[in-house]
Amino acid sequence: MHDSGSMGLAGSAFDVPSGATREAFGDGFAVPGFDAVARLAAHSLHVPLVSLVLSTGSAFWFSADAHRPDSPHALHPRYLEATRQGQTQVVPDTEADTRFGGAPLLTDIGPTRMRFFASEPVYTLSGQHVGALCVMDYSPRDGLNESECADLRDAARLAGTGLVLGSYVGRIDPVTQLPHRNAFFEDLRARQRGGEHQAWLIAVDVAPVSRFSAFIRAMGHAYADELMRDVAARVQVWMPEHTHLYQVGTSRFAAILPGSADGIDAAWMDELVHRLRQPFDCLGIPLCVQPGVGLLSLDIDQLEGGDPLRLVMSASHAAQESVRGWATYEPSDDERHRQEFFLVTELAAALNERAELDLHYQPRVDLASGRCIAVEALARWQHPTQGAIPPGRFIELAEQAGLMRSLTEWVLDHGVAQLGLWQRAGLDLKLSINVSSSDLGTELIDRLREAAGRHAVALEALELEVTEGTLLEHSDTTREILAAIRALGVGIAIDDFGTGYSNLTSLREMPATSLKIDQSFVRGMEASPHDGAIVRSMTELARELGFRVVVEGVETASIFASVQGMACDEVQGYHLARPMPAAELPDWLARHDVARFRRPAG
Ligand code: C2E
Ligand code: MG
Ligand code: MG
Repeated sequence: MHDSGSMGLAGSAFDVPSGATREAFGDGFAVPGFDAVARLAAHSLHVPLVSLVLSTGSAFWFSADAHRPDSPHALHPRYLEATRQGQTQVVPDTEADTRFGGAPLLTDIGPTRMRFFASEPVYTLSGQHVGALCVMDYSPRDGLNESECADLRDAARLAGTGLVLGSYVGRIDPVTQLPHRNAFFEDLRARQRGGEHQAWLIAVDVAPVSRFSAFIRAMGHAYADELMRDVAARVQVWMPEHTHLYQVGTSRFAAILPGSADGIDAAWMDELVHRLRQPFDCLGIPLCVQPGVGLLSLDIDQLEGGDPLRLVMSASHAAQESVRGWATYEPSDDERHRQEFFLVTELAAALNERAELDLHYQPRVDLASGRCIAVEALARWQHPTQGAIPPGRFIELAEQAGLMRSLTEWVLDHGVAQLGLWQRAGLDLKLSINVSSSDLGTELIDRLREAAGRHAVALEALELEVTEGTLLEHSDTTREILAAIRALGVGIAIDDFGTGYSNLTSLREMPATSLKIDQSFVRGMEASPHDGAIVRSMTELARELGFRVVVEGVETASIFASVQGMACDEVQGYHLARPMPAAELPDWLARHDVARFRRPAG
């Protein structure tokens, strides 16, 4: 068994000086309690060397004697790989184990070879696999007995708690193991105390928030975590030595860079964006992100009272939409952000009180009969001081701020209640409502069922409109959710078709019932014969693929006349009716001249 003499320790006591551990990256961000955990493990398992190896590549070492690796990559890659399996590994003799082909356990510990190795996966409290606790010995062993196995497991559990603790106290992110925003500000203040006057801040946004959350829903948290680690690694390779990357948001990093107030090398910034735009191969699935890099020249003396992180983040946010992908902070961006922030807070309040929100309904007319067979519910927001805020503006904000689900829930409940009233008053109508990217979770299925049940409306009388863009950014999961909704009897329309660069055939795989041609082509029909031809061929193809075809944006009599001659089933647009408050619809329906809008026979 184990020969304690070979460890070069006096007796069985492990007299370890405090500070015997260190993180091999040397950047000083320790895992709280690791020292104690490692000492316990070393003591109970009688091993001279303990390491906490994180999935990020970072490693913390604890040694009971003088031999301690210098490099974070000291563990041979084959062993490192084994620790990533998420299972207990026991290698009684590293020189005899065929799995590792006689590879040395450690690559840089000098003349002494380690012969025994065991590792236990480390999980955070929420169950994320974040690394492994490894124990090593100079001499081979038979393995670990039951009580040693239990000791190793306990130590790994404690290490996981320490990692979480690190993030609770606001210093370390449990997924990327990067220091948090508190550490970022502490370090800025340390520079101020050290007499520095100028620094460049950068912020890196991985993807727009709505895209990132849609992506988490589609791919799962484990994939998102892995992606964040990969992105962090790419940024770190680009960063100058002795600078740190901080995690300042779920999908956002920041750093403090050296540089003179005159400027920063543009080619160097282009290089970062170029690197981040290369596809990531994450858990074997390739993915492109939409990075935005913001830059801010900071006068460190003016640190007090300002919020430089918020400013540089407004630049990174703006940069996401730009071709270049990076941008220096502009006060005008900040003003726009303040305004957006103001509106988001106001929208959240409006959703709570609901007094400022309303739905307007726009008729959809069937060309075969000339009748209005359905109405589309369109959200309206009347702000007490800002006036009417167009949906084009607040829908995007709701999506970004995570308010979309409550908005949709409100629209669904309000719209279906109204439909129930109309139906009971004898109006034969259906209702379509718009849903966004972040609505497409399994809860939507329940919401639909509940709303229809609550207001005694048949599910067949409802239709969801999903934009082509939303369908494109989604995956198999979306298809399954839409199929389940379809199975309830609810119709599904592909909205704004023609704007998303998809081909019709790929959309055919979606369980959609109708397709709405985007108004941008329709409105251009009068001026451009080209647009007319596009609309004609889109309608024909859509019908051939079995969709019910809806043309929206029919603004004038002449567009209406052209559309009547096309493979179109339904029309919607100002020429027929503008969206109107619920109270006006019955009158409009009574006045609606069916014969005028019916397609002439033959
Ligand atoms: P959409 O779903 O494509 O709705 C049609 C939009 O075109 C509506 O704009 C409607 O007022 C407008 N429109 C209809 N006919 C004509 C026409 O002949 N000419 C012109 N120029 N415009 C016409 P609105 O109400 O401003 O809504 C804009 C977009 O905001 C909607 O486009 C939809 O994507 C989104 N939206 C509105 N309400 C909701 C909602 O409750 N939830 C979600 N997720 N999105 C909504
Ligand atoms: Mg729509
Ligand atoms: Mg549309």
